[in-house]
Amino acid sequence: MLTTLKQIVQEVSRTPGLEAALNRLVTLVKAAMQVDSCSIYLANYEQQHFVLTATNGLDPAAVGQVCIGFSEGLIGLVGQREEPLNIENAHQHPRFKHYPEVKEESYHAFLGTPIIYQRKVLGVMTMQQQAQRQFSQDEEAFLVTLATQIALEIANADMLDELIKSEGMALPSGQQSINGVPGSSGLAMGQGFVWDKQILLSTLVNRQHQDEAHEISLYRCAVSKTREEVALLSHGLDDSLPDDIKAIFTMYDQLLDANSLGREVEHHIKLGWNAATSLKIVIEEYAARFKAMQDPYMQERAVDIIDLSNRILGYILNPLQQTNTFPEESFILVADEITASMLAECPSERLQGVLSIHGSQNSHAAILARALGIPAIMGVTSVLPSLLDGKMLLIDGYAGVITISPEQLQAQEFARLINEEHALSAKIDALGNEPSITLDNHAMSLYVNAGLSVKHELADNDNIKGVGLYRTEIPFMQRDHFPPEQEQYELYRSILQSHPTKAITMRTLDVGGDKPLAYFPIVEDNPFLGWRGIRLTLDQPEIFLVQARAMIRASEEYTNLQIMLPMITSLSEVKEAKRLLKQAFYEVKEESNDAYSNLMMPKIGIMIEVPAAVYQLPQLAQHVDFFSVGSNDLTQYLLAVDRNNSRVSSLYNSFHPAVLTVLQQIAQQALMLHKPITVCGELAGDPAGVVLLMAMGYQKLSMNAHSVRKINWVIRSIELHHAQQLWSEVSALDDPNAIKMRVDLFLETHGLGGLVRAGG
Ligand code: PEP
Ligand code: MG
Repeated sequence: MLTTLKQIVQEVSRTPGLEAALNRLVTLVKAAMQVDSCSIYLANYEQQHFVLTATNGLDPAAVGQVCIGFSEGLIGLVGQREEPLNIENAHQHPRFKHYPEVKEESYHAFLGTPIIYQRKVLGVMTMQQQAQRQFSQDEEAFLVTLATQIALEIANADMLDELIKSEGMALPSGQQSINGVPGSSGLAMGQGFVWDKQILLSTLVNRQHQDEAHEISLYRCAVSKTREEVALLSHGLDDSLPDDIKAIFTMYDQLLDANSLGREVEHHIKLGWNAATSLKIVIEEYAARFKAMQDPYMQERAVDIIDLSNRILGYILNPLQQTNTFPEESFILVADEITASMLAECPSERLQGVLSIHGSQNSHAAILARALGIPAIMGVTSVLPSLLDGKMLLIDGYAGVITISPEQLQAQEFARLINEEHALSAKIDALGNEPSITLDNHAMSLYVNAGLSVKHELADNDNIKGVGLYRTEIPFMQRDHFPPEQEQYELYRSILQSHPTKAITMRTLDVGGDKPLAYFPIVEDNPFLGWRGIRLTLDQPEIFLVQARAMIRASEEYTNLQIMLPMITSLSEVKEAKRLLKQAFYEVKEESNDAYSNLMMPKIGIMIEVPAAVYQLPQLAQHVDFFSVGSNDLTQYLLAVDRNNSRVSSLYNSFHPAVLTVLQQIAQQALMLHKPITVCGELAGDPAGVVLLMAMGYQKLSMNAHSVRKINWVIRSIELHHAQQLWSEVSALDDPNAIKMRVDLFLETHGLGGLVRAGG
């Protein structure tokens, strides 16, 4: 049965066009299941009825004519109940309604199942038979399974697209707003603009050549033009962008430089294929290898390779190629896979936001969008890009929500919020770097999270106390090998040296999960529960020791280094890591004779981000100098919600009462244990989160550099005891949305309404 089902789904998905595909489907099902009729009714939410869309067994003349109200007849009942209905004699069912047009008088047995995608009923599929009989369990299971597969097809394939365009049906209600993963915060509105490079590697037909030398020179010429184009794009980037963004373009450059790529392409040219086909063969092999790794980060590298190759291909096929014609007005860039180079090519004055069907918060496009301050939503899998082309789109980068073709009033309200947001940034910037003290004189310490250099993050702000989280994995991710000790030493030393009076907390390598290294592939079914953070580095002490030695050597002349361990789950991990850190310390001291006589063992802290650590705080406290709460992972692990999966992104919520309760317990315990504690997850840069964290007793917050002034404003606008009253009120609520709404109301009544964002 499974084989039959697979064959049907495959054949249907290969059939172009909605009508033909659904007709094929009903015919195949009728034959495979040996029933007298199979039909599909699709939902029309505007008209609130199901339309007979395909049938093999009912009167074909009724297709497109018969409409059954959402609460009418057996079809309506299946849609309402959202479950299969299996009856021996349909005519005797109290909800049976006779539709003479379909000519079903002779059918008695009825099996109907809803077609549901992301909680929405898209339609109903039925099988009918003349005999009076109950359909078997197997038949029922078959139809239900088929409907789930077809639902995906209907929602994702051209079917829905065509349905909407050709029959004027609206998106099913609720899909006017769709969810993705927040990639870069902020609000934006504009016309959807689908990136459409005309020439794509995937659409190329393989061809042989007549002139080998010509093809080789064509290829080399195309590579050199692409290199110029990439250099131009990277040159056009704002100078103030952090180095890690520029490194994306360096990576493109390295790929173009890679001898192996050129050699392989030229090898295929020598075998007789023309330049374009040779490029296609090589790139598809490369991309397939990356894609097969089933690892989001590695898959994204495949996207970069394909993007780059499409550019080379453009020059091979048409050396004078035209670029995309961008809309004259403000637009939202939409693409299946948004790449960093696409972003760089868009006219920045008109590019308002970014929407990528694939990708996650780690995609280069998301990193770049954040650095450029452009709202971005990633992983919007529930809609086809073509559906968004030319449509007015509202992008809420805080919540990861897209509104398609909004009502005029909604668009006006959104435009007002965007204006407010701009006015607010200007106002916040004008506030300068005043000390972070509440109206009732309670001082908070603000730190920044950094990832490569710290010069931009700490520049011109004396109010920032230091770096609360330096993610050392970022420089590791930018290399094609583990950086040697001397290279790490120089980097860490330059960071400690740049702000010798400010505390710099360097986290040991936190790779694995969603942060793999290209040169150290880890293939796991469940990477977030797998070999990541401290687990990995303790298993590879050579990596840990080299990093520890580099950090300790770098701190020789400075006293501002603190070392932090990620993903701590057990006390034994802390003990083992400390043993290695001590080993590194004594090695460095010994090797240096007297040169490092001032060397001091840095303070050692741990991230509290795995629930297990929360329950061992007293034991852990005996071995470490400080704690830092990683609210991103703590939320993910407490709620069992993958932080990068758009399907469950609405469940990922740090305002969940369980998360808040745990955060308070951590704050109370740290106070009792006299251990300094910081929060360094995203919640520490969220105005509503900050109000609650302060009320719970947190005094140190570490956040993205661009959130610092905003959070400072929040702190300076409230009284701590008011925040505490609010916390005692919301800690009694059990609904995350109600909690968030109540905190937002608090912000509004304190003149901070501009910071309140729907769902953000
Ligand atoms: C966290 O988990 O909250 C955190 C700060 O670390 P990262 O986001 O790098 O996992
Ligand atoms: Mg973490």
